[in-house]
Amino acid sequence: MGGLHRGHGELIRCAAKQGPVLVSIFVNPRQFSPGEDFDRYPRTLEADLSLAERCGAAALWAPPVQVIYPDGVEAVQTRQAPFELQQSLCGAGRPGHFDGVVTVVARLLVLVNPACLWLGEKDWQQYMILRRLVADLRLPVKVQGVPTVREIDGLALSSRNQYLSVEERRQAAGLSTALRSVDPQDDVMGPVRDRLQRAGLEVEYVERVDPFTLQPCGSKTAISLLAAAVRCGTTRLIDHVFLMTRQPLVAIDGPAGAGKSTVTRAFAERMGLIYLDTGAMYRSVTWLVQKSGVDPIDAAAIEPLLQSLDLQLRSLPGRGQQVLVNGEDVSEAIRSPEVTGAVSGVAAHRCVRQALTAQQKTMGARGGLVAEGRDIGTAVFPDADLKVFLTATVGERARRRALDLKQRGFPVPERSVLEAQIAERDHLDSTREEAPLVQAKDAVELVTDGMSIDAVIEALVTQFRSRVAEEAWPTPAG
Ligand code: C5P
Repeated sequence: MGGLHRGHGELIRCAAKQGPVLVSIFVNPRQFSPGEDFDRYPRTLEADLSLAERCGAAALWAPPVQVIYPDGVEAVQTRQAPFELQQSLCGAGRPGHFDGVVTVVARLLVLVNPACLWLGEKDWQQYMILRRLVADLRLPVKVQGVPTVREIDGLALSSRNQYLSVEERRQAAGLSTALRSVDPQDDVMGPVRDRLQRAGLEVEYVERVDPFTLQPCGSKTAISLLAAAVRCGTTRLIDHVFLMTRQPLVAIDGPAGAGKSTVTRAFAERMGLIYLDTGAMYRSVTWLVQKSGVDPIDAAAIEPLLQSLDLQLRSLPGRGQQVLVNGEDVSEAIRSPEVTGAVSGVAAHRCVRQALTAQQKTMGARGGLVAEGRDIGTAVFPDADLKVFLTATVGERARRRALDLKQRGFPVPERSVLEAQIAERDHLDSTREEAPLVQAKDAVELVTDGMSIDAVIEALVTQFRSRVAEEAWPTPAG
């Protein structure tokens, strides 16, 4: 809507790294209620133009009302924002506001037809509602969020900050201070409300919600959004913070040979998360069973091995994971055809699953992890922030497996033999009693036939970003 500041500048800069940027400026009458600040909203086109240019915009477009609403502002059919996303936060106190926002943005998108729509995470509810608009209309537009830019004292940049007097400006910093003062494990709403009032701010709401459904939640939700709206003098200010009781957790499940390892490892590195290959853990136990001369179908004989098992996994940057079993480096040995042939049988034993699941849960207790396996989203981390079921047809997986064996210097069986082995392993993994391989109800399915490795990684990043905000877990530089 104009009144551009460094926050908008950051949006333009981020977008300009990916392509030519068109900045639209339109103070949308449909999203103001009577009595709100439509008439005095900052209109600073000359300054906006120079800021947009400095930040790398290719063009600025400030259409007159007749272009956006050719039949007049009153005549336009209002599009409705989803009811459930409007019940909380600003939607409750500003009826019709988000309907006005989606109405104008739908129109802007139709007129411009951009590849990507860049939005600030500052207006989180708006960002969620607009993402839904694009998804519901199946528009071919990627929606990208950019973290809130702040003043040194924490005040989130906003065009409305211009309204603040010197004294109010000082008080306004109390909003972000109050939101940042809480412990995510506690009941936070009351204490924040008190702090805001003590700072001289009039509270409109303080709410803790699930960041994506915007429904009320408590500290059981690992990553939640604590948001508030206040009046500072007559100026309405909003802000939020992400409360995290642990770092993000991603579960990637799927059948053998779907190419999970390569993409999961690369994805983990890209997002600054630790990579955990749980298949390597089942392979390690299988290796130990074979080395100890124990019958792989004899659970009672395997159990003592588990009791004395010291299984260590270390991430080697750029080279994947090193696996140590009772001090011995088995990273290569666990990839042998002998281990591969026996692992599904060993992994089906209840005692094996219990031991390894417990270790995996401990490793993931603080989050910050991408775990790959068969039962991560269902049994190990049912509360993962993102669950992906990564798969490919048997034919495609056999082709990839042949390539992998060749690269590792193992003999490569006939394609039909490989296909039969893969189908057999799928069958064993998905029909066993303990934690079978099934797609979690809330998992996103990704069928990777015909996709390049980069395309799969890109798809994972997009999915991750649709579940974890930049503000909650910034993408590492580089
Ligand atoms: O992923 P990878 O092929 O290394 O996994 C080897 C085997 O380990 C799988 O076929 C499956 O039998 C077992 N596994 C499992 N649960 C996991 C990971 C792997 O049962 N979470």
